[in-house]
Amino acid sequence: MDADTELLVIGAGPAGSAPARRARALGLSVVLLDRAELPRDKLCGGLVTGRSARALDQVFGIGITPDLFLTSRHMRFRAGARMLADKPAAPPMHLTLRRPFDARLHGLAVAAGAVAETGALDRIEGHCAVLKDGRRIGFEVLIGADGANSAVARALFGRAYDPATIGFGLEIEAPRPPGDDDTVEVDFEAARWGYGWSFPKQGSRTVGVGGVKARTGDLKDAMAAYRELAAPQAGAARVKGAFLPFGDFRAVPGQGRILLAGDAAGLVDPITGEGIALALESGALAAEAAADALRIGTPDRALARYRKALRPIHAELRQARLWRWLLFPQTMRPVFLKGFATSSMPDRYLRLLAGEIRYGDLRSDLIRKTPRALWRALRT
Ligand SMILES: Cc1cc2nc3c(=O)[nH]c(=O)nc-3n(C[C@H](O)[C@H](O)[C@H](O)COP(=O)(O)OP(=O)(O)OC[C@H]3O[C@@H](n4cnc5c(N)ncnc54)[C@H](O)[C@@H]3O)c2cc1C
Repeated sequence: MDADTELLVIGAGPAGSAPARRARALGLSVVLLDRAELPRDKLCGGLVTGRSARALDQVFGIGITPDLFLTSRHMRFRAGARMLADKPAAPPMHLTLRRPFDARLHGLAVAAGAVAETGALDRIEGHCAVLKDGRRIGFEVLIGADGANSAVARALFGRAYDPATIGFGLEIEAPRPPGDDDTVEVDFEAARWGYGWSFPKQGSRTVGVGGVKARTGDLKDAMAAYRELAAPQAGAARVKGAFLPFGDFRAVPGQGRILLAGDAAGLVDPITGEGIALALESGALAAEAAADALRIGTPDRALARYRKALRPIHAELRQARLWRWLLFPQTMRPVFLKGFATSSMPDRYLRLLAGEIRYGDLRSDLIRKTPRALWRALRT
């Protein structure tokens, strides 16, 4: 079946359902295409931060409800067996499974009038998307929200990501051990140029390691060691892996009337690995840019508008990439871990996750405190 639409969104993760929903609110006709029929699985820690929660409210008008989320305020930071900080009254963190979460957002986009189609994008010919099954969908503006290995990005730029900078993560879904207290755990020693996580869910724990693929070394070994430490009860739970951009964002996220959002645009926090908030935010901004460009009859100007709207996000990711050089290199690790355990850094990390502060706010702190913290750590 051939179809024509003002906005075609490829990919129905958070970066796809968000623009579909927002564009419908702005009066555009929308086709939302995914190669999988939803609900579908997506490998992810499922940590929905305060920042993501705000975006969910703004784009979808939904709150954090117990049918979809487990909320925890207890955070532990570790370096292997060593406890760095235990924070029982952290800002709330919401944990979800992506299968029902993505299906809910998709359902809300469809309820708003987006037309859901199932099929995989093969290529783009002019203003027409050609699917693997031969169907063709004409569009005024296209948003590529098809994840880290984006077919839209490949069509535009020849490849979806840079192998030198892309991140990779391994995860298992483990049963919860008896007495599990809903603690959210991060382990800075579980992976080089990355970290490990153990996130509680309503019926399981998601335990994983991830980092910059070219620098983490053998992630399988790291996963085996972390699994032993964090989830000895996991039994035969199967390890799965997936790419995540992890700071590898595209300075020019599209071409003319074709825009990239979420992982397809490389929009994942290079320190925390959080991508859901940026997927929702960038998706909504892409829809607004598309609507503005269409309103004045210049769909080819959509990218220029979108780039302007993305500037604050890009500026923040650039800052976060610089911060990584204090956290991730092996030579800095002992200094960082000592500084982390003995300073207000854990609280700041949590406030960052909650969206209460941004990386820019940390800069003045760094200038003030680093020389003293470094000196203290080196002396001991
Ligand atoms: C191991 C791991 C753990 C993570 N943990 C967290 C976390 O705890 N919190 C957090 O905020 N972020 C986390 N992230 C990052 C987060 O998962 C992503 O940033 C987020 O899913 C991006 O959403 P998206 O909509 O851009 O892409 P996706 O969620 O990947 O959705 C892309 C969609 O596009 C579809 N698609 C792909 N190709 C095609 C095609 N050719 N045609 C049609 N459809 C197509 C796919 O089926 C999919 O539905 C994690 C990532 C990984 C890998």
